[in-house]
Formats: sequence, C-alpha cells, structure tokens
Amino acid sequence: MPHKKIVWTCSVCNKPVEDDDGYVTMEMAQAVRVEEERAAWAGTSPEGVTAVTADTYPKSAHWQVFHIDCDPEPDREAYSFDVGRIRSAWAALAWTAHLMKKRWLAATDWDVLIERVAATHGGTRGLNSH
Ligand SMILES: [Zn+2]
Repeated sequence: MPHKKIVWTCSVCNKPVEDDDGYVTMEMAQAVRVEEERAAWAGTSPEGVTAVTADTYPKSAHWQVFHIDCDPEPDREAYSFDVGRIRSAWAALAWTAHLMKKRWLAATDWDVLIERVAATHGGTRGLNSH
C-alpha cells in the first residue's frame, strides 16, 4: 500500500524527521493566549459577526514539526510528542481523539496539520469542501 507511513517534515530544514529524532509540538503559552484573546473577542464582537467571517478573530496557535537539533527554541513550554508515535493514519486518528479531550485544542491549528498530512498522503480524495 503506498503512503502507508506518515512522513513528517521539519519546519526548519524541510527534511524528513526520523523516529526519536524530532517531534510534533505546540507552544502551550500561545494556546492559552489565543483562548484568552478569543474570549475577549467574543465579548466585544458585534452581533452577527462570527468567528469564521471576522478578520479580527485571533489566529490559532501553531503546531510545528522539528528535528531536535533544528528547534529554534527547545526550552519553550510545549505540548510535544515524538514523530515515531504518529506514523500511521490510525495513530493520527487516536491522537486526534486524545487531543479533543483537551480544552485548548480548539485554540490550535491541529485541523490544519491533519488536513496537510491527509492531503500529502492521498487521504482527501472524495472529501468535498464542506
Ligand atoms: Zn530539521
């Protein structure tokens, strides 16, 4: 079966990341800040303006993939896990279910990461835009 194994690419050097050599990561402080900004936004936005249509809606905290040696800020307080733990579509599904239990997941762009993985590995065929 082609594309069975998920290939992770480093956000810095663009090369594939091998098991135990890097991780998928998201800065917790950023997710917390986005949550606060969105709560504030919801309190001030005019009636009828939705998060989807507003330019001012705070952008999601960003998931990234780094080689251990490429990470520009290895000391950040982050939610991270080794790329070796998310090598199959099933693992990605399990991680998604796990992360959906986290209050802060909606403040991150995990959906973008999963969409990118699916598109790269041929999983979006048959998926309509809505
Ligand atoms: Zn790298």
